[in-house]
Amino acid sequence: KIETVRVALAERSYDIEIGSGTLAALPEFLRARTDSDHAVVITDGNVEGLYADAASDLLVGDGWEVDLFAVDPGETSKSVEVVEELWNVMLDEGADRKSIVVAIGGGVVGDLAGFAAASFARGLEFFQVPTTLLAQVDSSVGGKVGINLPGAKNMVGAFWQPRGVLCDVDAMQSLPDREYRAGLAEVVKYGVILDADFFAYLEANIEAINVRDAAILTHIVQRSCRLKADVVEQDERELTGLRASLNYGHTFGHAFEAIGEYEELLHGEAVAAGMRCAMQLAVRLGRVDEATYARQESLLSALNLLVDPLEADGQDLLRLMYRDKKTAAGKLRFILPSRIGHVELVSDVPEIDILASLEV
Ligand code: NAD
Ligand code: ZN
Repeated sequence: KIETVRVALAERSYDIEIGSGTLAALPEFLRARTDSDHAVVITDGNVEGLYADAASDLLVGDGWEVDLFAVDPGETSKSVEVVEELWNVMLDEGADRKSIVVAIGGGVVGDLAGFAAASFARGLEFFQVPTTLLAQVDSSVGGKVGINLPGAKNMVGAFWQPRGVLCDVDAMQSLPDREYRAGLAEVVKYGVILDADFFAYLEANIEAINVRDAAILTHIVQRSCRLKADVVEQDERELTGLRASLNYGHTFGHAFEAIGEYEELLHGEAVAAGMRCAMQLAVRLGRVDEATYARQESLLSALNLLVDPLEADGQDLLRLMYRDKKTAAGKLRFILPSRIGHVELVSDVPEIDILASLEV
């Protein structure tokens, strides 16, 4: 069964299609949404042999001219140097405004290819085929694309909405265990911040989630995309603060990622640890009850996501939290749950409570 999430934006709407085996229908998916017949396919060295080669062959068989370019796997490819390489490849291959860019890969490939698409020739049509759980439930929804500067993640970028997103949940089968669980952390996040029923659905389907059941995954990706799309639709450019709720667990999480120099913990693992701290902080401040804390703990535990925050000096972590770019006017603000499915933005939290909540 194929699920569709329609993302309705002011300028243009687009569909996210989700299901098992959907990749086989990539040519039809694109044909229904563009008149182009030249696709620049951008992937990484891991995904190339797994999915991107086969997808390109399908496109060629369907009459497309295809140029495939694989970057090195990993966050370091989200750089100015690699974007420049992509621009030059696109120039050499004769890409113009009638060409499309298709990103096949995880969030790194999506962010990078999306930025290349947004900037080359003042903007090419862009499609995403996310192949990690994180990319399917998070990075491919919302239109944020971009690259890192040496000291600043996601510092250069754009809002560049795709013309369509095709999620094949079968791609989860080849995903390394840590990457899969890291994606689940963002899924749990949606339940906590926005949807108590979805949280309960996750609790009720632990076994199936852990064996990556295709039908369950189709629902999980659909629901996650719908929840994020609802937020993005109301706050496309991150102006009203509504989109900030998506940062639940991230103020702590970003500090854990940074203290591990982005090598110890995957983003989702850091977010899982950050959600534990945030929930603990909410309990300390009397904003949520212990039972809610325990529910989040047991769901994270069942999904093997009880990531311990890295052993680190509290003051060091606090300093990193202040440095995070989402810190408005030097004030720490936290997204804290008041119950499952509901969060509030809280500022003026005493440092002593923040420090205490680092120990979970
Ligand atoms: P990633 O793209 O690095 O992928 C993780 C690893 O999995 C890579 O080694 C990749 O080659 C491999 N891989 C991908 N698909 C696979 C598959 N199906 N089977 C086996 N291996 C596979 O990492 P990610 O977690 O997908 O994305 C992280 C990036 O997403 C970060 O750069 C982050 O900034 C960005 N992000 C962006 C947004 C946004 O709104 N644009 C939101 C969240 C995260
Ligand atoms: Zn995140």
